[in-house]
Amino acid sequence: MNTGQKILEILKEEITESEYNRYIKQLVFDVKKSNADEAIFYAPNALVVNWIKNKYTEKIAHLFEIKSGHKVNIKITLKNLVDKKKTTKTVEVKQGSSLLNPSHSFSNFMVGGSNQFAYAAVKSVSENAGKVYNPLFIYGGVGLGKTHLMQAAGNVFQNEGKVVIYTTVEQFLNDFTRSIRNNTMERFREKYRKCDVLLVDDIQFLSNKDAIQEEFFHTFEALKGNGKQIIFTADKHPKKIAKLEARLQSRFEWGLVADIQPPELETKIAIIKKKCEINKVELSKDIINYIATVIDSNVREIEGILSKLHAYSQLMHVDIDLEFTKNVLKDQMAEKRENLTMDIITEVVAKDLNIKPSEIRSKGRSKNIVYARRISIYICRELTQNTMPQLAQYFGMKDHTAISHTIKKINDLIKDDEDFKVKIDELTNKITAQT
Ligand code: ADP
Ligand code: MG
Repeated sequence: MNTGQKILEILKEEITESEYNRYIKQLVFDVKKSNADEAIFYAPNALVVNWIKNKYTEKIAHLFEIKSGHKVNIKITLKNLVDKKKTTKTVEVKQGSSLLNPSHSFSNFMVGGSNQFAYAAVKSVSENAGKVYNPLFIYGGVGLGKTHLMQAAGNVFQNEGKVVIYTTVEQFLNDFTRSIRNNTMERFREKYRKCDVLLVDDIQFLSNKDAIQEEFFHTFEALKGNGKQIIFTADKHPKKIAKLEARLQSRFEWGLVADIQPPELETKIAIIKKKCEINKVELSKDIINYIATVIDSNVREIEGILSKLHAYSQLMHVDIDLEFTKNVLKDQMAEKRENLTMDIITEVVAKDLNIKPSEIRSKGRSKNIVYARRISIYICRELTQNTMPQLAQYFGMKDHTAISHTIKKINDLIKDDEDFKVKIDELTNKITAQT
């Protein structure tokens, strides 16, 4: 037992059992970050943080002082799941470009059938900057490892001493507007046109942004002209990005366009094992298999689940077994789904299929509207708790039998048509990524 836990055990004797169970039991002592002068505890939510801060800080400090013989500063704070911290750090806006995440390396990237093409392309680019595929364009659904792969190449280049800019369209745009405002366009161009490698993430957001498309085009031409490597990612093929200048679109396809598909079970298992290794979480084989089958394709979820398992097991002082895992995952799914509304689902489907959400809920009978409506109904049924009559009302259908017909139709289609199944998976992925 560590010092922090010991102190909490002593405190347990001094307060009522219900107070202890309700609040103190939820504290986790951070052995690594605490030191002789400061003791850091994590609480799972703001309520518990405040309560304990107000009521128990002094007591805890006192107990520490008795034990160690000197004053110890007590810090009660929110437990930001470790990985969340990591990701926010990498997207931190820094002068229009971000830092590369060092753990996004090739060796941390698990390769399987679903991503081996993209992997091979990026790997090859990382070994022959500017020479093989330029630009390299990676596309695929949310959380499938696009950013990871792109940054893996970035890390290689950076270690070779090259000047690497990693940016998103949003950051590029902000940088651009700031430069216009501050009259520093020359510096802006110098920066983006003189780097050795340009990585632009989530290029689909160029859609509809005319002013920036122009600037972007010239940046591209300058870099490409000088043989500098460029890598793009997007959630879809360049051809499918709406409202994109034709000359940009064609340039995106100049080099190589590689897709990433959702991982198969084996790859998911390999990824989970890797994440366990990185995050120092030990899980048995049956638990790993269970997680791999339960989560859908969005790999980002894996890290959330692992941190949660880890945090809970620490909080409750229990080992992580299958039963425990099932409970934690059940919570996680329920939590996710609670936030998911039919509005969100319809919005995502509508955007993806280039129609208006209101059209999905209208009586419109045109082919693509009916198609979008059916898909929305199916996904709402899958992902929300709404009953068939509620669905019927929301989508303006006659009654619950109309809904059950629709769902049967979609189920049949999924069975018969692999492409359609992929489409549904893709949309489901996008939707669950919203919560
Ligand atoms: P995207 O940019 O496609 O939305 P990310 O690259 O951000 O997805 O990946 C989401 C998370 O999943 C990251 O933590 C990443 O490290 C992890 N990940 C995705 N694919 C793999 C893989 N094949 N091997 C290891 N980790 C992966
Ligand atoms: Mg990404």
